[in-house]
Amino acid sequence: MNKGLSGADIRQAFIDFFTQHGHTFVQSSSLVPGGDQTLLFTNAGMVQFKDVFLGTDKRGYTRAVNSQKCMRVAGKHNDLDDVGRDSIHHTFFEMLGNWSFGDYYKKEAIGWAWELLTERFGLSKEALWTTCFKDEKGEIAPDEEASQSWREQPGIDPAHILYFGRKENFWEMAETGPCGPCSEIHIDRGPEFCDKKDEPGHVCRVNGNCERYLELWNLVFIQYNRLSPTRLDPLPSCHVDTGMGLDRIVSVIQNVDSNYRTDLLMPLMTTVQKITGHSDAQREANLTPYRVIADHGRAASFLIADGVVPANTGRNYVCRMIIRRAARFGSKIGLNEPFLAKVAQTVIEAYSVAYPELKRNQTVILDNITREEERFQRTVQAGIDHLNESLDELKKSGNQVLDGQRAFDLYATLGLPFEITRDIAREQGLEVDEAGFRQAMEDHRLASGAGKAFGAMGGEDVDIYRGVLTDLQSRELLGVNGVTYDPYNAVEVEGPVLALIQDGQPVKQAMAGDSVEVFLPQACFYVESGGQVSDIGTIVSVQEPRWEIHVDEMRKPAAGVIIHVGHVIQGQPRVGDQAIATVDWQRRRDIMRNHTATHLLHAELHAILGDHARQAGSLVAPDRLRFDFNHPEGVTPAQLAAIEAGVNRTILENYRLTTITKSLQQAISEGAMALFGEKYGETVRTIRIGYPEPFSYELCGGTHVAETGDIGLFLITSEGSAAAGVRRIEAVTGRAAYELVQRRFKALDQTARLLAAPADDVPTKVNDLIDDLSAARKQTSAIRQELAGVEFSRQLDNVPQVSGVPVLALALPNADADTLRQMADRFRQRYPSGVVVLGSVVDNKPVLIAAVTEDLIKRGLHAGELIKAAAERIGGSGGGKPTLAQAGGKDPSRLSDALDQVVPFVQRKLKG
Ligand SMILES: [Zn+2]
Ligand SMILES: [Zn+2]
Repeated sequence: MNKGLSGADIRQAFIDFFTQHGHTFVQSSSLVPGGDQTLLFTNAGMVQFKDVFLGTDKRGYTRAVNSQKCMRVAGKHNDLDDVGRDSIHHTFFEMLGNWSFGDYYKKEAIGWAWELLTERFGLSKEALWTTCFKDEKGEIAPDEEASQSWREQPGIDPAHILYFGRKENFWEMAETGPCGPCSEIHIDRGPEFCDKKDEPGHVCRVNGNCERYLELWNLVFIQYNRLSPTRLDPLPSCHVDTGMGLDRIVSVIQNVDSNYRTDLLMPLMTTVQKITGHSDAQREANLTPYRVIADHGRAASFLIADGVVPANTGRNYVCRMIIRRAARFGSKIGLNEPFLAKVAQTVIEAYSVAYPELKRNQTVILDNITREEERFQRTVQAGIDHLNESLDELKKSGNQVLDGQRAFDLYATLGLPFEITRDIAREQGLEVDEAGFRQAMEDHRLASGAGKAFGAMGGEDVDIYRGVLTDLQSRELLGVNGVTYDPYNAVEVEGPVLALIQDGQPVKQAMAGDSVEVFLPQACFYVESGGQVSDIGTIVSVQEPRWEIHVDEMRKPAAGVIIHVGHVIQGQPRVGDQAIATVDWQRRRDIMRNHTATHLLHAELHAILGDHARQAGSLVAPDRLRFDFNHPEGVTPAQLAAIEAGVNRTILENYRLTTITKSLQQAISEGAMALFGEKYGETVRTIRIGYPEPFSYELCGGTHVAETGDIGLFLITSEGSAAAGVRRIEAVTGRAAYELVQRRFKALDQTARLLAAPADDVPTKVNDLIDDLSAARKQTSAIRQELAGVEFSRQLDNVPQVSGVPVLALALPNADADTLRQMADRFRQRYPSGVVVLGSVVDNKPVLIAAVTEDLIKRGLHAGELIKAAAERIGGSGGGKPTLAQAGGKDPSRLSDALDQVVPFVQRKLKG
């Protein structure tokens, strides 16, 4: 075995081996899948090639090799539970793959796999086992072609070629669509690696589920198109899709018993060990926390590098959850201060050569992780205390499962993610109702108007659209690529209505007033993407009888399917009618101004704030643009002014935009900015602005103005926080900017007229007015105090006696708290023995002051107790010394009620 190879060497050797065999190296796509609403995260190498297999996307190559970033933490593929408990499961991992799109097939794929493993990597031929497909139902032909190819490999033991059925060796993307048999390579690491020796009934064998036989590599041969549960048609061209987990092959080549002992993950464990100061033995005694921290630290770094920062919902929730979970496991080994950034630093150093986005986003990654740990620390102890109380109650009640709503409350109020709640419950032998938690979270999101908490994860029923597409293709009404999409060169197209869909069913005809979805051979309406909203417009019949559909929205529910979603304004549209579709051009031009301005804003943010200010979200609508970007603090007014001025300067330069389609590789190497969550094919559209050096250079599929001057005017309308570490700017351009200026001018003119001053003098005039007003207020207040004094003096002559003691309870509505205290002093000067309680309303809040002379304290009177009794009536509380006390309250209307308590209170005390 070639034990000297590092993890990075092995990744590179895989890529080099296949590029030597004519494969094109394709960069990993983002962890945020572009254009696929059904996936939370990219979870396999296949995600970025899905459309190629479906035949709706074509690339400039037929052989590809890649190392894909993957996350499996949600949905069907959820490995989170196993992470940390064993040595082979991860949230984040890299998947190595080689791909043939209608090019080579089983013979080459198998031959190269064998050659790479045995010759380049030096694995023992005797230890390798392979599996081929044989249908247990006998409906699909056994894969003799693959097993024959295996038998031809030099040095292979024919007894090591096994057959398995559908579960292990038949791959399907979905219920219908491309599918085919697969062939796996396993390695026997020797009986000492079996971790299930003590399990009754365990048989140590391939697919026997223990760590002795490890699956290394899965070769998928896509040769059928499934049309129904019983019908498979052969595909016109066959494809190869392979996947090999990098951590695992590295653990085998480096001959270590765990992925965590490879040179990919061990340095992360060592970093943790340095922070804890543990010995090796202590580390081994705490393997679970160490593994969780290493795994989650790596995953969080990659997520944040791809723009997924910690927050409350969807992908961002996952990022928050794994950081908090790592922090909690850290506390189990004595790490109670933020530490995970140090682990992330190690990740960045180890992985940046293969994934330069880590280095580029270093500050953002480290800051976000530390801030999230700090946020968690503020509430974690309270959260765990509350949870433990709930768990104790649960045990007392004899129940086993904690209520989902309770788990959600712990998250919403004390920041305890569901997964941590479940960890803690399981440590005590209890469970948590996950469905209930999800439901509570969903209800909360809907109640707060924030949309779905987890996004569309189930996926809608796209089969109907695929069915219509296949039907149109089979009748040659549409080509292999489906509907032609070109929103750039025309705003009007003519063609026949190919299909109409209502309530998920194809119909021949629609009526006036109906909602309807329209298939045309071409679409020039922009389909919402990259933050730019869909176009609206009309579709009208060319011939009599006339009909008209208003298009409200555009959708792309499946590859090759673009539909106009609208409602019939008049007439009865029928399938086959010739029609003209026209984009609302005025609205579209507003959108184009906002989109180009978004690029200028993005570039200006980099220039003024720095390169970390990268796009984290964007909305390009007709009436405004909204731009979210990474930045740890508020943008200052001076920076904001500089940004706005910079964008307007570029507008006035009137640069011509250059739109060029080129290869992704070339665009990236020229420094074009790629955005998160966007799917990029082999060729990309680039937008350059500025001359001679581009001021802005982005990959972008949106629609833009021809020259920056078309934008007119750019005005920022707001700046604020969008999420932790993410700021949001909203702005207007063109017509909306003109309207804003108009509105502001009008308001200014009206104010100037009211002040009878020129518009330019309004600020000084208003300042003068404010000064005058506050002088007048002071004067009024002084007069009020005087009045209060006069009123008090009058009352001071007529103080009633209670059991021979003078007791005064009086409201002085005009006095402030200071005046009340002065008045209380005057009372005590006049009556060396007595009780006084004074009340007033200041800023709409009631206040009370009570004073008791020294001699009465011996007789059981206490100013603090007295005021407490009175303050209850005004919904307040208070206290103080036995001689002097003060209280505030909420309900000013009950002040006299409070004062009425004084005499009875004094009576009771003096009697008692
Ligand atoms: Zn075993
Ligand atoms: Zn753009």
